Amino acid sequence: MTTACPICKKPAEPKFRPFCSSRCANVDLQRWLSGSYVLPGDELDDEDPGRDAET
Ligand SMILES: [Zn+2]
Repeated sequence: MTTACPICKKPAEPKFRPFCSSRCANVDLQRWLSGSYVLPGDELDDEDPGRDAET
């Protein structure tokens, strides 16, 4: 039974399952971290255009 690496679709190595290498495992970890934890203050980057229209 062979599992395909979710990152590059290569056959996974039992040592790094479900990935083919530690590199792909790291890539997945980075994706998970950046996707799960949205930095607080991200909304501050969004400027409010409606304020300028206020007279
Ligand atoms: Zn891979």
